[in-house]
Amino acid sequence: MAYDVNFDSMTQQNVKTSKVRSIRRVLKPNEAVFPILQEKELLLSEYSERNASLTKEVIELKEEVERLKTLANAAKNEHVTKMSVMESWRMEKQQSLSIRQPIPSGDPVHSQIQNLLRQACPQSHYAGCLAARQLEVLSVEQVHNVKLWKQYAFRKEEIKKESETAGIGTVVESELPPLDWIQLDKSVNEVVLLHGTHSDKIDMITQYGFDQRMAREGGLYGQGVYFTDQSCKSAYGYLWFKLGESGSGWLLT
Ligand SMILES: [Zn+2]
Repeated sequence: MAYDVNFDSMTQQNVKTSKVRSIRRVLKPNEAVFPILQEKELLLSEYSERNASLTKEVIELKEEVERLKTLANAAKNEHVTKMSVMESWRMEKQQSLSIRQPIPSGDPVHSQIQNLLRQACPQSHYAGCLAARQLEVLSVEQVHNVKLWKQYAFRKEEIKKESETAGIGTVVESELPPLDWIQLDKSVNEVVLLHGTHSDKIDMITQYGFDQRMAREGGLYGQGVYFTDQSCKSAYGYLWFKLGESGSGWLLT
């Protein structure tokens, strides 16, 4: 097709049909802007996506913060709930936490454990045992050791399976008062017991667990790892003459 172009009137005339029409002016795209535009469009869509997912996270976090605020202000009798919240939080943070985690001195766990240890000396005991009923808890630590906990849970499952065919045998009882955050499985003879030890052994035990090879020789019943439900007995030889001093410890197991 051929046209006569008139630049004065900005019209074009079709040579064949003599039809006149204005010249369409198409703006030449600014190609230099293309890559920047493309990049910004990509960023915009990426940020929009992130914005949506962050908004979702913000909503979830706000809900969790509100829930925790309610829990934090809840009465002491909600301790079980608090502990279970702490437990799930602990599992999340397990890799970044140290194995021995001190529990702040204001936490009711301190008085609960102090009461438990004071009560864990039978009324029929006399003499030096009286000191056990007045003992004071100076510090409490929670042991975080996922590896040992998994081993424990695995062994517990094994025992459960074995007991289905063989029974649980002798029923093991512990006179220790119950702690409301510990759920025990009676079907596998699970009990809470005490173990007394020197403070310099605590790191080894909390890292690697109880190991008979590390046990002192010449114990009351020969070499072995000893557990008891009596605080005075677990303290024997370790805390007996040291009550009130810091540095030695009990392990609730
Ligand atoms: Zn006693």
